[in-house]
Amino acid sequence: MTEATQQPATGWIFDLSGGRLCLDFANTVGGKRGTSPKERLNSYAELVSWSQQVGVASEARARHLLAEGERHPKLARTVLEHAKELREAIYRIYLAVVRRERPENGDLELLNRELSKALAKQQLVREKNEWVLGWADANAMDSMLWPVAKSAAELLTSEEAGRIRVCEGILAEECDWLFIDETRNGSRRWCSMSDCGNRAKARRHYQRQKKGR
Ligand SMILES: [Zn+2]
Repeated sequence: MTEATQQPATGWIFDLSGGRLCLDFANTVGGKRGTSPKERLNSYAELVSWSQQVGVASEARARHLLAEGERHPKLARTVLEHAKELREAIYRIYLAVVRRERPENGDLELLNRELSKALAKQQLVREKNEWVLGWADANAMDSMLWPVAKSAAELLTSEEAGRIRVCEGILAEECDWLFIDETRNGSRRWCSMSDCGNRAKARRHYQRQKKGR
């Protein structure tokens, strides 16, 4: 094995500020959807890299998936396209939840189909002398989508669904990420203070200066 194959699939470090797996998956588009999107899943290798960074795939499994992706490039492309369809459906569902609207049937159907598949793949596995609820066929090329679908369903049916927010960067056409607001008084406004929060602060400062002149 060469040293290169031990490195993560791509150099991109994903920002995991969503607070739940399904939201971090929805946030694999930077910028703003529709106007200035920055796609972070440009290849199957990047999807595998995300899976490894969020802990859905171990290093060994990520290596296996990458090798599979190289062996079956057509299937890898199909999985990537499907992953992005699922991601956008999850994003739209949760944006509707934030806006207290009913999600589109087509999006719910897509998530339900993935959920059925995921639940059919769940099984008891032995890990480090303990029984855990794991996955059958975990080396399948689309196996990273099962925990994502499960996470999306669990969040939607939990009390936490009321704490999902969209970053206020959406108003400045800069960022439309989703996150769970875990502050006690429900006051979190930005996906991250160091990024969108800071940008907004700088913008307010600039506007005040302009008015002062
Ligand atoms: Zn943001």
